[in-house]
Amino acid sequence: MNPKWNGQFSCFDLVAHSADAKSSRVRTIIEIGEIEIGGNDFVVMAGPCAVESEKQLLQTAEAVASAGARILRGGAYKPRSSPYSFQGLGVEGLKILRKARELTGLAIVTEVMSEEDVDLIAEYADIMQVGTRSMENYALLEALGSCGRPVLLKRGLTATIEELLRSAQVIAMAGNPNIILCERGIRTFETATRNTLDIAAVPVLKTVSHLPVIVDPSHAAGVRSLVPILARAAAVVGADGLIVEVHPSPENALSDGEQSLTFGEFGSMMDDLEPYLDLQRRSRQLRPQLLAVGGAD
Ligand code: PEP
Ligand code: MN
Repeated sequence: MNPKWNGQFSCFDLVAHSADAKSSRVRTIIEIGEIEIGGNDFVVMAGPCAVESEKQLLQTAEAVASAGARILRGGAYKPRSSPYSFQGLGVEGLKILRKARELTGLAIVTEVMSEEDVDLIAEYADIMQVGTRSMENYALLEALGSCGRPVLLKRGLTATIEELLRSAQVIAMAGNPNIILCERGIRTFETATRNTLDIAAVPVLKTVSHLPVIVDPSHAAGVRSLVPILARAAAVVGADGLIVEVHPSPENALSDGEQSLTFGEFGSMMDDLEPYLDLQRRSRQLRPQLLAVGGAD
């Protein structure tokens, strides 16, 4: 491993590799029922930004499941930049997510914004999502240590890779080693896209950490036309999966409509990913060091 990275990250000993080459071969695999995140599968989480109604969520759940998603996303508690925007359905939204799980068998990922909501949301969710705005909410991270569910930790809008791992270490120190890291784009001077997808963060994280790494192309791009191509990039650089926004009628979405895919667009994205996933699988078999820069050497 690159000695600079080792010096930089190995202090986060529960989530980063030590200098010992042997430790870099042991990866964390997160099991949710039959789903394994961080192993050989590429796991796609998909669904609307926000749960808006039972009809909207159930239609979306069926569509994404039949296109190959394994996990349904949908916010019941929404961290909106504007106080005037839709804030989510709260418990009502959680109940709708549960119904979608019963009907489709999809696992559920949903955001938790406050430590006070952890116990309630853990009753409904299979994965607890920490949003970009909460990455350094230490009271929340500590409470997630004992929630009994894996945590999807999104990189903060202006967070470095080191800061992302520091937050992961807080969750692990609080007792929960089941953490999925998520690159969702960071704030840069660029304005053509909503955020800048830091694609290099994926192989760096896969090298310095044993945790699974997924990519959110929707929040990175901010426009739906870019989502499929960023998803392919994620597959090629060795991500363990994706989280993607999908809506039955994006132009009427109560949040993030511009970046949400229609059902048809999501289906095409999934079909078109295949050759890129094949490339990832072949790289893993032939030259694993290609997907974990310097990790195996
Ligand atoms: C979301 O997933 O809808 C969301 C709010 O994401 P982020 O925290 O990455 O902005
Ligand atoms: Mn969103």
